[in-house]
Amino acid sequence: MNGEDPWAELGLRPGADAATVRAAYLRAVKAHHPDRFRTDPARFRAEEERMKRINAAYRRILEGAAAPSTRPDPPPPRPGPVCSRHGGPAVTTCQVCGTPLCPACEGWRERRCYRHRRAAAATRTPAGGPAAAAAVWVPLLAGVAVSRMLGFPLVAILLAVGLYLTVLGARRLWRWRWLGIALMVFFPYSMPLAGVYTLFTALGPGRRRAWS
Ligand SMILES: [Zn+2]
Ligand SMILES: [Zn+2]
Repeated sequence: MNGEDPWAELGLRPGADAATVRAAYLRAVKAHHPDRFRTDPARFRAEEERMKRINAAYRRILEGAAAPSTRPDPPPPRPGPVCSRHGGPAVTTCQVCGTPLCPACEGWRERRCYRHRRAAAATRTPAGGPAAAAAVWVPLLAGVAVSRMLGFPLVAILLAVGLYLTVLGARRLWRWRWLGIALMVFFPYSMPLAGVYTLFTALGPGRRRAWS
């Protein structure tokens, strides 16, 4: 800080109370977060500098190093730990590793640091469940329903179902690499069987990952 007024930096009257300061700080972080301007390098650098000033101003106000307030104020909150990524005052900590997080940290609301937020996202990727079941069952059931409505002969419908299962099974066997290809070549009926297997494993969540 080059002697600038930290209150002015956050658009505050000197001596504003702690809640107002905090609200102004959060607003400023939201408006000037450099990540919003990743596509514009010049703006990105400018906002990076701005964020540094905002963080410094907030820290100075918290530390009471700013101009003394004109009216009696409750004692300012003690300056706490500082975010190592953005240099801002930490408002919370990672619930896994305890890293201090500032409001500029993407996961501060979930109380997860950058690393643990990514780890949590990775384990959350669905590996089965309702979406997987719908993906294989909906085309089948819809196809059968429509063909019955249009009055297709039963043989044709059964043939179409067999073909669907064959395609479904072939897709699964293809992922087994050489073993799957060998099965398809030497035991062609393994394809519809694998299709049936896919249909039923899609119903049970959690099992799918081991095979696909
Ligand atoms: Zn963490
Ligand atoms: Zn941060």
